[in-house]
Amino acid sequence: MENNCYPFVNIPLPYDDSALEPYIDEQTMRLHHDKHLQTYIDNLNSALEQNPRLQRLTLEQLIRTANCLSEPLKASIQHNAGGVYNHRFFFSGLKPPVSSIPDNRLLRDIDRFFGSYNAFKECMKKAALSVFGSGYAWLVYERGRLKIVTTANQDSPLAQGACPILCIDVWEHAYYLKHYNKRADYINDWFSVVDFEQANLQLLHCLQS
Ligand code: MN
Repeated sequence: MENNCYPFVNIPLPYDDSALEPYIDEQTMRLHHDKHLQTYIDNLNSALEQNPRLQRLTLEQLIRTANCLSEPLKASIQHNAGGVYNHRFFFSGLKPPVSSIPDNRLLRDIDRFFGSYNAFKECMKKAALSVFGSGYAWLVYERGRLKIVTTANQDSPLAQGACPILCIDVWEHAYYLKHYNKRADYINDWFSVVDFEQANLQLLHCLQS
């Protein structure tokens, strides 16, 4: 991952703010990336500024070792390193809408573990709807299997030793401007802008590590 150590910067999105219209609106994308993600980056940099011994760790290492830190640094690293990692992961897993689902290793594994793409979609929807309050639903690779998990707030499946493949941010700021309180509509729209080629690369990365 680009810019994976302190000081962290907000890497521009690899597509225009309006590129995911009409599924995710331009204003939501702009605020989500330029304001919400920026705040996590600023807060992570200031926590690390005061703790030089952590400055050489990568984002993934910060998330995996946060548990060993003492409060209040622990909570600050969990929340802010998680916020940077999760948002970068979410944004890089999206692309302008295409109508077809590619045929690749990931899609074949999805058929194998969930029965069909549609069965996977239903599972992912159910998980994303089940997050109470703020958090994420993830497709992860763990001990030889594909699995759907949810995390609260900015917790990351990395901290539990799972390898992330795909995620949907279900904090209200990810959809409220367009979808209001209708999270189910947002989840349906999200499926139209998922980048399954990028997710396949993540799976290949998980299989190698
Ligand atoms: Mn978010």
